[in-house]
Amino acid sequence: MGIKDLRVKGGRLRATIEELARIGGTAGGGMHRLTLTEEDRQARDRFVHWLRELGLEITIDEMGNIFGKRQGRNPQRAMVLSGSHLDTQPKGGRFDGILGVTGALEALRTIHENRIETERTIAIVNWTDEEGTRFAPAMLGSGVWAGHFDRDWAYSRADVSGIRFGEALEKIGYRGKAPARKWPVHAYYEYHIEQGPVLEKVGKRIGVPRGILGITWSDAYVEGEANQAGPTPMNARRDALVAAAEMIIRVNELPAEMGGDLVATVGEIQNSPNSRNIIPDRVRFTVDIRSWDDSFRNRATEAIKKEFIQISQKRGCPVKMETIWEISHTEFDSNLVGRVEKTASQLGHSNYSMVSGAGHDAAYVCRVAPTAMIFVPSIGGRSHVEVETTRWEDCEAGANVLLHCLLQSANE
Ligand SMILES: [Zn+2]
Repeated sequence: MGIKDLRVKGGRLRATIEELARIGGTAGGGMHRLTLTEEDRQARDRFVHWLRELGLEITIDEMGNIFGKRQGRNPQRAMVLSGSHLDTQPKGGRFDGILGVTGALEALRTIHENRIETERTIAIVNWTDEEGTRFAPAMLGSGVWAGHFDRDWAYSRADVSGIRFGEALEKIGYRGKAPARKWPVHAYYEYHIEQGPVLEKVGKRIGVPRGILGITWSDAYVEGEANQAGPTPMNARRDALVAAAEMIIRVNELPAEMGGDLVATVGEIQNSPNSRNIIPDRVRFTVDIRSWDDSFRNRATEAIKKEFIQISQKRGCPVKMETIWEISHTEFDSNLVGRVEKTASQLGHSNYSMVSGAGHDAAYVCRVAPTAMIFVPSIGGRSHVEVETTRWEDCEAGANVLLHCLLQSANE
C-alpha cells in the first residue's frame, strides 16, 4: 500500500470523540467543559494518555498548551503542527475544537501504525482557553505562544468569581515548565467544524477558508438609579436595564443599516440588583462585532458607541463602553490553502472556498507560521449549542484531508 492510499479509521475517531464527550457532557447531549476546570483537567489527562500510547514526546508549556511530537528524520528542520482546543462553551457542543484535536490525533495514529517516517517532525497541540468564556479574551494559550499577549497579563485574567487564570492553571496541575514561546513551524493546519450554514447550503463536504473575520469585543456598563418598583412613578426613573435593552436592539439593527458582511451580537448580560421589585441601577453587557474589513469593523464600533451615548442621555443613564479585545482579519497562507483544496479534490471530496466567521487559534498561529484550516459541515449551521453536530463520515473525510496535508508538508 502506497502512502497515497493511507486512510484514517473513522470508527476510532468517532470513539475518541465520544469518549471525550463523556467528560463534562450535559443532559442535553452537549458539553460543559470550561477551560482550566476539573473537567478540563480530566480531558487533558485523557489526551496526554493517548499521546503516550503513540510514544510521542510530550511538552506542556507555562500556558498549559500541550504538545505531542513525533520525530521526523530531520528533527532540526521546522516541524509541522496541527491541533485545536478541548475546552468548550457553557452548554456547547461535542465537536467545536475537539474535532481538530482528535482529528490530528487520528492522523498521527494512522501514521504511527503504518510505520511511516516523515522528513520533518509532526506535532499535535491542545491550546489552552480558546473559548475565552471563563477567562477573556479568547485564544489566550495560542496568543501567548505566538507572542501576541504577555504571559503574566494572561495569568492575571480573572473569571466572574475572581479566580485568576494563573491560579486555575496551577490548581489543575497543567502549568508546565516549557516557555510558552513560538518556535519555527513549517506549516500549521487546524481542522474544525464550520460552525455556520454555508457548506450545507452549497452542498459541499470540505470547506477551505481563506482566512478569519476580524473581531472586536467590548463591554458596556450602564448606570441608573435603584428604587422601589411600586411607588416610583414612571417618569421619575433612571432604569439602567431599559437603557441597556434599547442599546442591545440597536446593536442588532446596525448590520442591516451598515451593510457588508458585518455581524454584531450581545451575548452576555449582568443586571443589578436583579430583583423583580427594584428598578435596576447597574447593567453590564458584552458586544461582539465582526467583519472581514477591519476599518469597516472599527467604524461600526464607533457608530455603536455614539448610539449608546445618545440613548444614555435620553434615559439619564450614563454609559461606559470599553473595548477589551480586538483582532484584525486573518489571511491564511495561499500555498497551504491551495494544498487543502487540492488534497480534498484528490480524495474525491467536493470543496468550497470561504471565510471563517468564528475566531480560531489559527488566527494567532497564522501571525508566526504558514497556516491553513480545514472545515466540515455543521448540521443546520448550529454551533456553541448542545445540538451542535457533524456527520461522522464528514468527520472522517476531513481527517483524511488533514492526514494527507500533514504528510505532504512533513515530507517537503
Ligand atoms: Zn473552536
